[in-house]
Amino acid sequence: MVSRIRTRFWDPSGTRYGIPTYPRHLVPPHLLTLHQLAAQGLRPGPQGAQAQALWRGRRPGPPRVRAISLYDVRFALPKRTPSPRRRTDIFKTSRTCPECLIDVGYVLPRHLGVCLDCAEEAAA
Ligand SMILES: [Zn+2]
Repeated sequence: MVSRIRTRFWDPSGTRYGIPTYPRHLVPPHLLTLHQLAAQGLRPGPQGAQAQALWRGRRPGPPRVRAISLYDVRFALPKRTPSPRRRTDIFKTSRTCPECLIDVGYVLPRHLGVCLDCAEEAAA
């Protein structure tokens, strides 16, 4: 049995968060972070991130949702060094919250239009 806290970020179909989303400890084995891809001499394919892992940050101060992009290893390509401009294009798309202006590191859920922290504050 999985607890409610661990299933909060469980959204394999992406209906809640815009793209398939998993809690950090329940990521399927074919989805890798950039770091894990690079360790295998691979880079993401043109599809970009297929999914993300979310978790609650444990740093002192107001709690924030932390995120990391996940890439399907089956679409990965051999590693190559992208130009700085291309790197920016890939990673900045719709990740900056219009409310708090923070690049939150995950794709903003389309139905919210803001980051998860701003959405929670608005709901409270
Ligand atoms: Zn925000």
